[in-house]
Amino acid sequence: MQNSDTIENQPIQSEDQTQIHQNWAKTITYSTSNVVTPTNVEEIQAILRNPENKHIKAQGTGHTFNNIADTTHDGVLISLQNFKDVQVDDETVTFGSGVTYSELIQYVDKAGRALPNVPSLPHINVVGSMITATHGSGFKQPLMVAHVVAFDIVLPSGDLKHFKKDEEEDFFYYIHSFGSLGIIYRMTMKIEPSFQVFKAIYQDLDWSFFDDRETQDKIFQSCDYLSFFTDWKERKMTSVWKATKFIKDEDCPKYEDTFFNAEHIKTEHIHPVRGRDPSPCVFVGAGSWREKIYHFFPDAPPSSGGDESHTEFFIPYNNFKEALDALYDIREHFIHLVQVSELRFVCADDIPLSPAKGQNVVGFHWTWFRKHDEIIQVLPIIEETLAKFNPLPHYGKLFGLNGDILQERLGDDLAKLRDLIRKHDPEQKLVNNFTRKYLNLRQD
Ligand SMILES: Cc1cc2nc3c(=O)[nH]c(=O)nc-3n(C[C@H](O)[C@H](O)[C@H](O)COP(=O)(O)OP(=O)(O)OC[C@H]3O[C@@H](n4cnc5c(N)ncnc54)[C@H](O)[C@@H]3O)c2cc1C
Repeated sequence: MQNSDTIENQPIQSEDQTQIHQNWAKTITYSTSNVVTPTNVEEIQAILRNPENKHIKAQGTGHTFNNIADTTHDGVLISLQNFKDVQVDDETVTFGSGVTYSELIQYVDKAGRALPNVPSLPHINVVGSMITATHGSGFKQPLMVAHVVAFDIVLPSGDLKHFKKDEEEDFFYYIHSFGSLGIIYRMTMKIEPSFQVFKAIYQDLDWSFFDDRETQDKIFQSCDYLSFFTDWKERKMTSVWKATKFIKDEDCPKYEDTFFNAEHIKTEHIHPVRGRDPSPCVFVGAGSWREKIYHFFPDAPPSSGGDESHTEFFIPYNNFKEALDALYDIREHFIHLVQVSELRFVCADDIPLSPAKGQNVVGFHWTWFRKHDEIIQVLPIIEETLAKFNPLPHYGKLFGLNGDILQERLGDDLAKLRDLIRKHDPEQKLVNNFTRKYLNLRQD
């Protein structure tokens, strides 16, 4: 079992509480409150070329739960909030790095197109989400980053580079770099024709249905976007959120009372956390993709309103039921700390450092109460229980592990990222302690 001291996510204490800068959930205090807001690319280049700036990081919307976005020392946090241009073409959308999913959705929808998928909330910065391998859900849905086809970056040297997916072998390394290979200021991703979505929510799905692999497949493949929630109190999904795409009104799926004996909710919506006010949550029934494919409305506080912390591990789909049972068996260690867990399928890809590289996986996610010290104690127990499945963590959430374990699980991908960082950033100005730890990168 690992020692909790090794976990690179301890809140940093600042002596002057008026000057602190924190993540969205206020669980992490960054080492600097020096946030700069360049208005053009030349200003970003100047920041990176200034020899006085020894510790630099970009920041998105701060919806991470560890120190991945921290400068470790007093330094400079570059906010891309002024980079908001969006251009929608037939097949793609190109956007500045300050853009959130909520903003992108508006532009894309207005042009009669749709994003293929969205994470559970649209409030987050799109580029920041790509860096941590963020995903949505659905048996045909890969990571969000799989839809990226081009981006523009200011390298640590201050030089500019345009990357095209089809032309650059190392394309994804510069995104899945823990933010260490430069500041991305523009990105292009694929979009598709607009569609509608039929949403249905069922309660109390018994886990025994997953004992039979064929039934498990049927459940996972029953719709386009699928989230299971459980509070671990019983061997049940407390709720199952299903969403099915359709184009023409006549193809809208029919309402079904039950789904594998689980009953449809009797209200218009519920919150994933049992008993919480459902007003931030989307409604069941049919509607445009723009108001149905995430869980939380853009203008409402998502999830538990920031009163939370998150963890997620990706387990091979083939081991889904085994992992579910193993976690249920150790639930007494974490059940008092968890508001709800969400389980989502992520489709296999061939993307370096992806938690779904080479195999379909299920993300096992915990929305914790804000009990940082207790979570840190329980993470090694969860990690040890899941170790036989070699899970990768969600890079933006709380986890323990260490560089050797990540090296074992990521192999050549991690070594290659390390080499690229050494090549582009010998002074390690974009490298923080989080990256050093998980990449086994020495500070020379
Ligand atoms: C309520 C809630 C719900 C969530 N739901 C999901 C979900 O459904 N699926 C999922 O997978 N995850 C989910 N997450 C996690 C979230 O998607 C990720 O943590 C995401 O990375 C947050 O992005 P951010 O910009 O807010 O984070 P930040 O901490 O601001 O940035 C993340 C990283 O990207 C780097 N970065 C940001 N912008 C740039 C740039 N322009 N150039 C270079 N580096 C940059 C930062 O330095 C940092 O290392 C959720 C989080 C919350 C709080």
